[in-house]
Amino acid sequence: MITIDGSYGEGGGQILRTSLALSLVTGKPFSIRNIRAGRKKPGLMRQHLTAVNAAAEIGLAAIEGNRIGSQAFTFEPETIKPGNFHFAIGSAGSCTLVFQTILPALLIAGEPTEIILEGGTHNPFAPPFDFLEKAFLPVINRMGPRVDAVLEKPGFYPAGGGRFRVSVNPADLNRFDLLERGNIINKTARACVANLPVNIANRELEVIHEKLEWDRELLKAVEVENSQGPGNILTVEVESDNITEVFTGFGEKGVSAEKVARRAVKSVQEYLAFNVPMGRYLADQLLIPMALAGGGKFRTFSPTKHTTTNAEIIKKFIDVEIEMNECSLNQWEIEIWNG
Ligand code: ATP
Repeated sequence: MITIDGSYGEGGGQILRTSLALSLVTGKPFSIRNIRAGRKKPGLMRQHLTAVNAAAEIGLAAIEGNRIGSQAFTFEPETIKPGNFHFAIGSAGSCTLVFQTILPALLIAGEPTEIILEGGTHNPFAPPFDFLEKAFLPVINRMGPRVDAVLEKPGFYPAGGGRFRVSVNPADLNRFDLLERGNIINKTARACVANLPVNIANRELEVIHEKLEWDRELLKAVEVENSQGPGNILTVEVESDNITEVFTGFGEKGVSAEKVARRAVKSVQEYLAFNVPMGRYLADQLLIPMALAGGGKFRTFSPTKHTTTNAEIIKKFIDVEIEMNECSLNQWEIEIWNG
């Protein structure tokens, strides 16, 4: 049985999600201890527990230790069972992270899958739905499978109550290479507010207009009607010939709209200034599908701790080599190949 130390590297939830994803795909059982040891509240939170249970349902797995707060569990999958699933986190925990845990197995399953996920869809420190839809899934679809996600109801932290639906049509995964971004062909910014004054969205867009000097016609304020709680998110999309990247500012109590927008602007400016095709978040999230495809190569910023940690966990389950080299200032090349 593979043993995983959850305190390794980044020391957060990603270690257990990657382990679950790859245990399902390879059929290799694992045990994990020191779960989220580096976090203020260690152990399984609702989002992580839902991911464990979802993986167990899809893999008909035997598990021990799957309860809230648990800092260790074992997971022994039997198969990959595609079909119709409904996973509800029961808090504002991120549904996109639960989805990313089970997606790799479903990409290579023999039959299609339909999933409904409920919980948070727009959480700080997790991929917001818009990132999933516009940045992450288009790359997965270019690798062969067809995955479509539809947001039915947004769920902002801390109220949650969001819901999205996904259909997964599996196929063999082709390697993915992305060294050049190409020309920028479209730029948009969308500021959404739910149960908050629309003025917040307008102020955020004003910062985008001033700092990025984007025309006002590229900016859109949206008042979301069907959200359970209050929320504010600023989504900036940069579409290039070869990739679409999405940058996000999350509204927070006590943080001005201008500050939220300036944070997003900083990420966009960095992306535009350095000619890398892939941002930091896509970089750590695409390692698993690329490893399953048997290889790939892309350029990005200097690897984050999430990226380096993920690479090490992947290598525990799959025989791949992952190399990260700096090719010029703030530009790195990450390559994966079969070991
Ligand atoms: P913990 O509570 O233990 O910190 P977690 O389970 O909530 O962990 P992490 O292990 O920190 O989550 O992983 C977060 C994931 O969310 C990473 O894959 C990261 O790339 C992704 N992510 C974070 N912020 C964004 C963002 N703004 N856009 C896209 N992806 C994001």
